Amino acid sequence: KTTAIGNYRRTREILEKHGIHAKKGFGQNFLTDLNVLNGIVQAAHITQDDNVIEIGPGIGALTEVLAKAAHQVVALEIDGDLLPVLDDVLTPYNNVKVIHQDILKANLPELIQTEFANPQQPIKVVANLPYYITSPILMNLLASEVNWDTICVMMQKEVAERLTAKPGTKAYGSLTLAIEYQMQAKVAFNVSRRSFVPAPNVDSAIVVLTPRPNELPELPYDDKRLFGLIRGCFAHRRKSLWNNLKSLMSNDRAKLDLVTNALAEIQIDPQTRPEQLTLNDYIRLTNALHQQMV
Ligand code: SAM
Repeated sequence: KTTAIGNYRRTREILEKHGIHAKKGFGQNFLTDLNVLNGIVQAAHITQDDNVIEIGPGIGALTEVLAKAAHQVVALEIDGDLLPVLDDVLTPYNNVKVIHQDILKANLPELIQTEFANPQQPIKVVANLPYYITSPILMNLLASEVNWDTICVMMQKEVAERLTAKPGTKAYGSLTLAIEYQMQAKVAFNVSRRSFVPAPNVDSAIVVLTPRPNELPELPYDDKRLFGLIRGCFAHRRKSLWNNLKSLMSNDRAKLDLVTNALAEIQIDPQTRPEQLTLNDYIRLTNALHQQMV
């Protein structure tokens, strides 16, 4: 019986056999900790009914544990040098398909329809993410209009803190709000840098995203306007909400009068800081501004 891919010695052997050196530019840090790998499968509640999309299989350590637990696994890997390695190590698993693909360029709804035998069963994303593109990947997943059952991903600890931050804290910002708009975020557990080969220079955390349990009390009239406003309000975190709105409105007097009226209407103090406002406050501000303009 062969040892798991995620075993430290087996990983070393695979890398040596195929002459692979981890590529920094692709954020390659391979997991060599079976407790962490099994912990990820548990945190994602993977069952035999699940369709799993894995982002960045690397040399297949996580892919293997997913293949054992899920119905089907489709793994997207950008680095062509890893395809023969994956082909070799994943031979025992006939429910895995590796696709040479940049996740940021993938058409996920189409991929789900073409690759999964039962696309109506739960679709989960599970990944040890390439850290240099954590936010763009999350934004793409949320913009893709797929009804994700679960997104269970490893990321840098500091980014995990931003995803789960509460208003009024330093970590709270536009990323927090973009996630909160659609999903509920929880940190499952932290992972030491020593669990990887090569070791990254940051610690990590597993974040589990599931659809919001309750609907938003109010919806914005336009999502893009909402997130444009949020980004503008957080452009200078140390400044007041009012000063950020002034820059956002290019100091236009007429527009700023509308902003003053909108803030008064929803009873938000212009001198408050952008991180004090909740998602619902930003939605109400977006809608109040819209009403001022018509
Ligand atoms: N899953 C493996 C593990 O846990 O050991 C490897 C994780 S490693 C942190 C990130 C993986 O993502 C690498 O295999 C890297 O080549 C891949 N990757 C980087 N950018 C990518 C992209 N844009 N699309 C798909 N995969 C990407």
